[in-house]
Amino acid sequence: MLQTFEWDLPADGTLWERLAAQARHFARLGVTAVWLPPAYKGSAGGLDVGYGVYDLYDLGEFNQKGSVRTKYGTREAYMRAIRRLRLAGIQTLGDVVLNHRLGADETEHVGCTPINPDNRLETQGSCAPGEVYTRFTFPGRGNTYSDFVWDHTCFTGVDWNGWDPDHHLFLLEGKKWAEDVDREKGNYDYLMGADVDVLNPRVKEELFRWGLWYLRTTALDGFRLDAVKHISASFYRDFLAELRKKTHREVYAVGEYWSASLDTLLNYLNQVNNSMNLFDAPLHFHFYEASRSNGAYDLRNLLQGTLVSARPDQCVTFVDNHDTQPGQSLESWVDGWFKASAYAMILLQKSGYPCVFWGDLYGIPARGIGAVSELPRLMQIRLFQAYGEQKDYFDDPDVVGFTRLGTPAVPGSGLACLFTNTGGGRKRMYVGTRFAGSSFVCLIGGQSRVQIDREGFGEFSVSGGGLSVYVPGLTLSSVLYRIRENLRRALRIRIF
Ligand code: CA
Repeated sequence: MLQTFEWDLPADGTLWERLAAQARHFARLGVTAVWLPPAYKGSAGGLDVGYGVYDLYDLGEFNQKGSVRTKYGTREAYMRAIRRLRLAGIQTLGDVVLNHRLGADETEHVGCTPINPDNRLETQGSCAPGEVYTRFTFPGRGNTYSDFVWDHTCFTGVDWNGWDPDHHLFLLEGKKWAEDVDREKGNYDYLMGADVDVLNPRVKEELFRWGLWYLRTTALDGFRLDAVKHISASFYRDFLAELRKKTHREVYAVGEYWSASLDTLLNYLNQVNNSMNLFDAPLHFHFYEASRSNGAYDLRNLLQGTLVSARPDQCVTFVDNHDTQPGQSLESWVDGWFKASAYAMILLQKSGYPCVFWGDLYGIPARGIGAVSELPRLMQIRLFQAYGEQKDYFDDPDVVGFTRLGTPAVPGSGLACLFTNTGGGRKRMYVGTRFAGSSFVCLIGGQSRVQIDREGFGEFSVSGGGLSVYVPGLTLSSVLYRIRENLRRALRIRIF
């Protein structure tokens, strides 16, 4: 999977066009699915990254919030990008943000109870009349696609009350926080803006209607679900079941549950009946720590307590994303020297569904951050070599490695990978007796060729703070296989 945006992309409305133009290129890199950024109008109009949702039905079609297009382009360009990506054999996943709304059209008067932002179970005064931004009438869209008008009965809480500037979180009259949400801060239902009361039957019905409209309008293959720890677990369980039933489609879904605790993630998967995958946040934090501990991190623990170890078939592994990048709310940026090793882990190991971050593939120019130069090559190695049984060598705190034994079905497949967070090192690893007497070449890491002995072992090496990836030397059949595969990808696009 490729996450096709980073936070600081220029707001020039060209992303959808760029994705359409690059669809074939992504397919050649080995991308089989893309996570597209939120496509609907946010409160900051053409500048909104997409998470400040104003109108879910405005995909860059109506003049609202000062702009017809979104940060990424028009509705027409969005639809074209989805079509082009599908034709290139790539699944498209839409980013779904249902937790909150921002940029209401009108204020309303309603009773508000001030709440302690650090402990949401504690009130800081009694319910008193207030003025809040909760009425959404969408004057720029009118009744097109939906005539649903949002008012204060559709929300549980807000962070701004014109009649009480001293407090910064309010529970609306007659409302309570959902109970099946994250327990951080007592109850983490509230995140930002006007918190959507997804358990209100009218709201639930409208969101189900929107989900169906969105899938049918865009032909997306699935969703990336934003901020699921702040939304009633029962809501998403029902939402996905309903859409799958109504569309008779798989509707793949991966949720963003931002927690370093494996138990919390497993508990959530249980609550939603395993109806979605989750991003492996614990693994991300391990990469982050390993990259920031100046060699002290014990690499044998890299996979301990991660979702990919516990539930390999229900997790999306990643190194960084638009929230962890420098300057963002959850900043925990994996340091550059360790990036390639982290990507080798998620792309070349057998387990998990890896997600490559745009900001790593192309860099983050606005912050002077360069691309991870090894990344395109690692993606190609995943495509052509990362097959077959895996042997792990997580046996040393400073130098760890693994091999893939390859499969005869993919000529030239098989690999050996090792990396270190201290000085260089060597490791004797098994790559399979079918390679006995042949040699492995180092594609990443600048090491010399390694001879495979009669038992199928090689003595592989890595230089200080580095990553080495070795693959079988080229043979006629592996070259022919590559040509055929690349042709197949190119032809698929031309045939359709
Ligand atoms: Ca919420």
